[in-house]
Amino acid sequence: MEAGALKTQSAGNLLDLSFDELERVLVADGLRAVHAKPLWRAVHREGATDLAGCAHFPPPLQRWCAEAGWRLEVPPVSADTASSDGLTRKFLLKMEDGQTIETVLMGYTGRHTACVSTQAGCAMGCVFCATGQMGFVRHLRPGEIVAQVLHANRQLAESGTRLRNLVLMGMGEPLHNYDAVMDALEIVSDTRGANIGPSRITISTVGVVPGILRLAEERRPYSLAVSLHGADEQERRALVPASQRWPLADLIEACRHYSSVMEEKIFFGWTLIAGRNDSVETARRVARLLSGIRAHVNLIPLNPTDGFAGTASAENAAYDFQRTLLEAGIPSTIRQRRGIDVAAGCGQLRAERRAKVARN
Ligand code: SAH
Ligand code: SF4
Repeated sequence: MEAGALKTQSAGNLLDLSFDELERVLVADGLRAVHAKPLWRAVHREGATDLAGCAHFPPPLQRWCAEAGWRLEVPPVSADTASSDGLTRKFLLKMEDGQTIETVLMGYTGRHTACVSTQAGCAMGCVFCATGQMGFVRHLRPGEIVAQVLHANRQLAESGTRLRNLVLMGMGEPLHNYDAVMDALEIVSDTRGANIGPSRITISTVGVVPGILRLAEERRPYSLAVSLHGADEQERRALVPASQRWPLADLIEACRHYSSVMEEKIFFGWTLIAGRNDSVETARRVARLLSGIRAHVNLIPLNPTDGFAGTASAENAAYDFQRTLLEAGIPSTIRQRRGIDVAAGCGQLRAERRAKVARN
């Protein structure tokens, strides 16, 4: 049928499609399935930004690209800031409806990691988080998550490298946008495209219990990070309002289930806030809470935000907290606040641009 008229189906953003879906679309439009591969490669591996520019495609595919009405969403960059140490670059990308989202590219000795957003804003309302402070705007579509990965890879292509790791720690709660996130992760882990190994992809959640259980049930091959911040219900609720919906006891039970079913370690995130959740006593309670779970605790000193009066823990308090965990047999790392001079905390660049406040 390839010489005849195109039978185009309803078109959209090509980045929303999985490889199988792309094949189905091409076949439904009268092309052979083999055309999916060069198109997929151009978009997901080579980072093509314009379908019309793919002159090396076979003629039927070129024609489809020109006529079928599918578009390749390449979000314009509204801001591009580099940290003074040169290791972190933060992009504000503009979606088609004008919403801006953050994508961060971190590079340590050739091992590049992208930190992507899964929603514009966030409904979970963690009090110390700039994204939580702006409230929920909307979910991102799979293609909008994929576009961030492609953007990061295009930056790296300039220096002949590629993304190795992906973390879902930008704006939004990934498990509140479960289906779109899973679709996006299938796409970026496809070996014919961006090819990011599933075990190098980390989903970070504030503790959406049904989502954690579903990840285990579906045996999703990604790493899991759970943001804890409090070791008893009261302490946690004061920082993480979502704990009212999914109480700490249920969350820990879900984590226990996940780590035993998946036989995987869980990374627990802990934002250290002076005088709020950084005492040695709290660290002891964290250790008791996590006993029996294969866990690693990442301690992150608070990045100050305009909407929260708390401050980062003193270095000594962070070390004491870490030592208490280590003595209880729980591995733990203090994460440095890299790129603080570009407001590397979640949602902070967008919040700053909105407030037109210059930091540093
Ligand atoms: N919603 C998910 C993923 C995005 S937030 C989650 O909460 O896990 C990614 C991480 O950034 C979370 O661990 C969160 O606690 C942390 N974070 C948010 N604001 C922060 C701030 N101001 N300082 C330090 N860490 C922050
Ligand atoms: Fe949402 Fe995560 Fe920020 Fe909490 S920390 S408000 S869950 S983005």
